[in-house]
Amino acid sequence: MKGRPSVVPAGHPPSPRRESKRARSQRLQAIVQVLAQLYPTVTIPLRHQTPWQLLVATILSAQCTDATVNKVTPDLFSRYPSAQALAQAPLAPLEALIHSTGFFHSKARALLATARQVAARPDRDLPRTLAELVALPGVGRKTANVLLSAAEIEKWPGWDARAGGLGIVVDTHVGRLARRLGLAFSLDPTKVEAELQTVVPPDEWAIFPLRLIYFGRQTCTSRNPDCPHCPLLSLCPAGPHHGETPWLATRGRTAVRAGSSRSSSSPNPANST
Ligand code: SF4
Repeated sequence: MKGRPSVVPAGHPPSPRRESKRARSQRLQAIVQVLAQLYPTVTIPLRHQTPWQLLVATILSAQCTDATVNKVTPDLFSRYPSAQALAQAPLAPLEALIHSTGFFHSKARALLATARQVAARPDRDLPRTLAELVALPGVGRKTANVLLSAAEIEKWPGWDARAGGLGIVVDTHVGRLARRLGLAFSLDPTKVEAELQTVVPPDEWAIFPLRLIYFGRQTCTSRNPDCPHCPLLSLCPAGPHHGETPWLATRGRTAVRAGSSRSSSSPNPANST
């Protein structure tokens, strides 16, 4: 990205700092439409057969690719298919099973604590609201939103994601894309989620982040966004700057160069809890 001129073409979106909320909302609508055409259907990248299994896979996906998690979970789920089964698992064999996902000590402890808490619930099942989910050990706001988004997209029986407090999944990649597209300004995922909630229609909250993530894999990668061939170029204030976000520069430094210091070959909606 270095060394290339940053020329903002006529008719291109201005700096998001100078854009009205109405103009940003209209631009967002166009972005939503383009992404919907590019990715009319999306699937949850983490393989699972039950809500519990998606929760386990999401916890394992912290700082790990979907592909690695998807290699580990078939064996894990065949041995421990439910919270009740996992709650009885010895620590050492569990750590061995999930070793390749990294941070296996802390992930194993989080899985056991979560499984035991879920198994001790009267219904022995996962809670179905964001407030209750984040009360589980190892479950943060993003993981809870991953579950509620999946409930909405996959139409899980007995789940009402919107009544349950569905928000917007914001991981590293969603944050990077949101800042490049001038839809959010903060580096704090919770604030990015709040910023997105002011412009993204509620009926898009479940699917919009997944579309962004797919788009971030294919076109708007962290280190080398393909701006010249990007279908969002005319809607993206970072396009003429090759993915940089000069409107976020502070104290002589660009606060958010690419929106992320990490690059992932397989970003997922759950790379931190
Ligand atoms: Fe990303 Fe460039 Fe497309 Fe903007 S124009 S969304 S920075 S690839």
